[in-house]
Amino acid sequence: MSLEIHDISKSFEDNHVLSNINFSVKDGEFVSLLGPSGSGKSTLFSIIGGMSQPSGGSIYLDREKINGKRGSISYMPQSSSLFPWRTILDNVVLGQEIAGKVDKEKALEMIERAGLKGYENSYPRQLSGGMKQRVSFIRSLLSPQSLILLDEPFSALDEFTRTKMQKWLLSIWEEHKRSILFITHNIEEAIFLSDRIIILSNKPATVKKEFIIPFDRPRDVNLLLSEEFLT
Ligand code: ADP
Ligand code: MG
Repeated sequence: MSLEIHDISKSFEDNHVLSNINFSVKDGEFVSLLGPSGSGKSTLFSIIGGMSQPSGGSIYLDREKINGKRGSISYMPQSSSLFPWRTILDNVVLGQEIAGKVDKEKALEMIERAGLKGYENSYPRQLSGGMKQRVSFIRSLLSPQSLILLDEPFSALDEFTRTKMQKWLLSIWEEHKRSILFITHNIEEAIFLSDRIIILSNKPATVKKEFIIPFDRPRDVNLLLSEEFLT
């Protein structure tokens, strides 16, 4: 599924956060979005995800203009969106439940793969921040939509777990070729994962720079970091 962001602006009263944002994500593409803290990345995601309205501009999915409800987008917000009264398993299958098709076996397999075996019947309050982040992450992957928005999905993870999750995400993406838009503060992570990187400027944010990663996967990040295109 392709996504086009067309002249999106957003202000909260006199706080101008986004100013004419333009970019696109092609069908099956993995795009990372970077930018300073407070530049409006999460605000942009909540607009794309249909949780808030832009002050101006339009969004197109497969070239069709969308308004309001976003049934075809899976969205993992930056802050935890787990339901405290649901068990981990019931939280994980939520996206499938909404879509009307629950695959419990698959959910349990993903929970195990995420290193959360044994926590299926626990509640979010019994988990650490990093564990809850992985629960939201697998929930968004299990949702059937072909466009996935991930807002700093690995920020609370230790280095070892993060690397494991990055490789897992890449293998899932390569297998199913869903379109992914990914926010991160970590340039190495963006280089390792994405086809293309979009960098936002300071608030009010516009697209400051955009570049394609001109190397095949798997990538040696250390080699890439020395490349001229990053400067
Ligand atoms: P980022 O994700 O890039 O760190 P955010 O999108 O979280 O940035 O925030 C960008 C700006 O938008 C900040 O100045 C923040 O205070 C403001 N903002 C975000 N959400 C709201 C809201 N619901 N009401 C008012 N201001 C908001
Ligand atoms: Mg944010």
